[in-house]
Amino acid sequence: MQSQKQFKRRFSFEFFPPKTPQGKEKLQVVRDELARRKPDFFSVTYGAGGSTQERTIDTVLTFQDQGIATAPHLSCVGSTKETITELLDLYKENGVTRIVALRGDLPSGMGGSAGELKYANELVAFIREHSGEHFNLEVAAYPEFHPQAASAEADLLNFKKKVDAGANSAITQYFFNVDAYFYFIDRIEALGINIPVVPGIMPITNFSNLVRFSDMCGAEIPRWIKKQLEAYADDTDSILKFGEEVVTRMCETLLKEGVPGLHFYTMNQSAPTLAVWDNLGLSDKEKITF
Ligand code: FAD
Repeated sequence: MQSQKQFKRRFSFEFFPPKTPQGKEKLQVVRDELARRKPDFFSVTYGAGGSTQERTIDTVLTFQDQGIATAPHLSCVGSTKETITELLDLYKENGVTRIVALRGDLPSGMGGSAGELKYANELVAFIREHSGEHFNLEVAAYPEFHPQAASAEADLLNFKKKVDAGANSAITQYFFNVDAYFYFIDRIEALGINIPVVPGIMPITNFSNLVRFSDMCGAEIPRWIKKQLEAYADDTDSILKFGEEVVTRMCETLLKEGVPGLHFYTMNQSAPTLAVWDNLGLSDKEKITF
């Protein structure tokens, strides 16, 4: 973990692009609540497929226009170099300076080809080739390994390819096993990787959604958390309270060990993230004594 302590801490909040006008209005409120905590940036996810992509662009440009630093996620799967080039230029013209560069996933049943750039390392290299050093590039990291990885070793080496291609920093898939993160950092340090790897934090708000997401992305829910959440059944208040405690404690451990910040998967809700944020006393970031 030694290498991570040298980096300045940064804090960020992730949204997905809203589907409806009501969702858009709600997101403005959520964003304003979170903006009061002065995060370093917001990010907006990007899906494969036309209409969701338009919504990401719209959300990012609206936020930028309102003076809110926003990092679009940009995936290459199913896309062409031409489309990516246009998007990079549009973002640059609108003052975007940070991009979360991903391979992405094609929705099952959507078919279609993988696109001209097959992996995130190729996207990172392409962005560097086209836009030089303009963008600060974030990539994804998987402390519990990516579900499609041929092996743990191969996944680490593939992560290194993204760093070698020019990634500035990484955000992890969410996890509840802090040791997986610490071990991941030790392994990448041994490979000579020296970039900030910011833990992605998923507040716990709903058991069935959490199980579904975790199955898809390969994040393990420890048995003791699963059993306790199961026992609460439909008791939402208890789930929220327990989730808040578990996630706060995990973040405390991470911060004490010197992580270079936290990235919250807000799921477009402010309350669960703010509960953890306030428990950690992060509002006064300059005074963090962890
Ligand atoms: P890659 O780094 O390309 O890795 C994908 C897989 O291929 C891994 O198993 C890896 O080991 C292997 N691999 C990588 N490079 C090579 C290579 N050169 N040769 C052979 N094998 C290779 N998804 C979205 O659709 N939209 C989003 O906005 C989004 N945001 C995300 C944000 C974060 C912080 C994270 C952690 C994930 C996000 N995802 C998002 C999910 C992500 O797109 C998926 O996990 C996807 O399956 C992999 O994307 P990647 O960029 O990690 O891919």
